[in-house]
Amino acid sequence: MSTASSPTLALDDQFARALPEMALPWQAEPVDEPRLLVLNEPLAAELGLDADWLRSPEGLRLLVGNHVPDGANPVAQAYAGHQFGNYSPRLGDGRALLLGELVHADGRPRDLHLKGSGRTPFARGGDGLAAVGPMLREYLVSEAMHALGIPTTRSLAVVATGRTVHRETPLPGAVLARVASSHLRVGSFQYARATGDVDLLRRLADHAIARHHPSAADAEHPHLALFEAVVAAQASLVARWMLAGFVHGVMNTDNTTISGETIDYGPCAFVEAYDPHTVFSSIDQQGRYAYGNQPLVIQWNLARLAEALLPLLADDQEQGVELATAALVAFGDRYDSAFSSGMRAKLGLPAGLADDVASPLVDDLLALLRANHVDHTSFYRRLGRAARGDAEPVREVFLDLAAIDEWIIRWRALGPDADAVDRVNPVHVPRNHLVEEALAAATGGDQEAFAQLLDAVRAPYEERPGFERFAAPAPEDFSATYRTFCGT
Ligand code: AMP
Ligand code: MG
Repeated sequence: MSTASSPTLALDDQFARALPEMALPWQAEPVDEPRLLVLNEPLAAELGLDADWLRSPEGLRLLVGNHVPDGANPVAQAYAGHQFGNYSPRLGDGRALLLGELVHADGRPRDLHLKGSGRTPFARGGDGLAAVGPMLREYLVSEAMHALGIPTTRSLAVVATGRTVHRETPLPGAVLARVASSHLRVGSFQYARATGDVDLLRRLADHAIARHHPSAADAEHPHLALFEAVVAAQASLVARWMLAGFVHGVMNTDNTTISGETIDYGPCAFVEAYDPHTVFSSIDQQGRYAYGNQPLVIQWNLARLAEALLPLLADDQEQGVELATAALVAFGDRYDSAFSSGMRAKLGLPAGLADDVASPLVDDLLALLRANHVDHTSFYRRLGRAARGDAEPVREVFLDLAAIDEWIIRWRALGPDADAVDRVNPVHVPRNHLVEEALAAATGGDQEAFAQLLDAVRAPYEERPGFERFAAPAPEDFSATYRTFCGT
């Protein structure tokens, strides 16, 4: 038993104080027998939280929202959002709570937030709960994204509640403790705008500037600068998703952050065979959120943010639209340049290579990968060996050998750097079949496979003896039918 005593846990309530209209004080549902499933000790340390105390009965009660430290003021946050293109004026935290803000070792605040902590007034028809599998899934994939260097919310812990959650089948319940640079979303601005209260909208924008894009405060037009900063952060984020083969799956405006962090790991998955049409989510029937659509979708979401910000951009609406449009148009260039420099890095190309050489090389490669159904992640890793002179591992995954041979000759002529290729192309991503296998076992009470997979994806660039199976693509019959579910 831990003897750790209760530390003074300073949870601030900045958001609740600055934006009370969007913060509904609320309490988590009581959990009788919380049981820790996984704790992120390095993250706890970064937040100044004592891991032994978090494992103690009082610490566990904090992690399910039942211990509210002095001065803390847990709230459900209000937001609106476009879900699959349809506007909902009132979404909000239906099963989540913002416990408050903590200061990270980097000196900047972080939200400590719970998911699965019971119904709130925003729950609509939902039960307010979350199941062990989907919460461990968020933990695993968000930690994998972090290890890949992709901006993301983090996961501090998953605690089993002992409650039964009814989905298609009865499932064990859990609460995820999530850490984010904030939970401000495009949907937060849509909500503030829809109230018609321009003062609220301005306070929200100023709060977002202070928290995420402080340099915008010094700009000639701070609110336009905020919008430009969000455009830039999201262009860079989605380029990173595309380079990693990540499909978010539910890019609703309420799941698009102002910080530029990836949020809400519901039906997300990594592509295996490279194909822009890849869709995993069972409810995304039209392929709105397909892998290759993500840059377009994020631009659409940013246009919704611009609409929400309009009253702050100019007194005259037409002038506001003009300013917002110019900033939105810049998205294309920002995205293209982030994607193209990322692809140059993946291919180990020398700096300063002319665009009219690099671009066709990249485009031709993507066409070849697609036509030959080549596994995205392992292809780039095999390139490292090709750069060192052994092209066989690359050749063996192509049907059209003449075409890949011709491409390899062009690429090698540019002098790719093999070590650079290995530094940026992961061996381990959370492959779908491995995630499903680990979560099924964990739901049944056996966490060994989850722990191993977590270990692998936390060291994404490391080839390790005994870990070969974490690097291999899924069996074909698995990939052909793989679907993910939103009903988490
Ligand atoms: P998501 O698609 O997970 O981002 O959630 C969209 C909206 O549905 C948010 O307002 C959530 O709070 C709400 N929601 C999702 N699942 C539940 C649930 N089980 N109970 C209550 N609200 C939920
Ligand atoms: Mg969400």
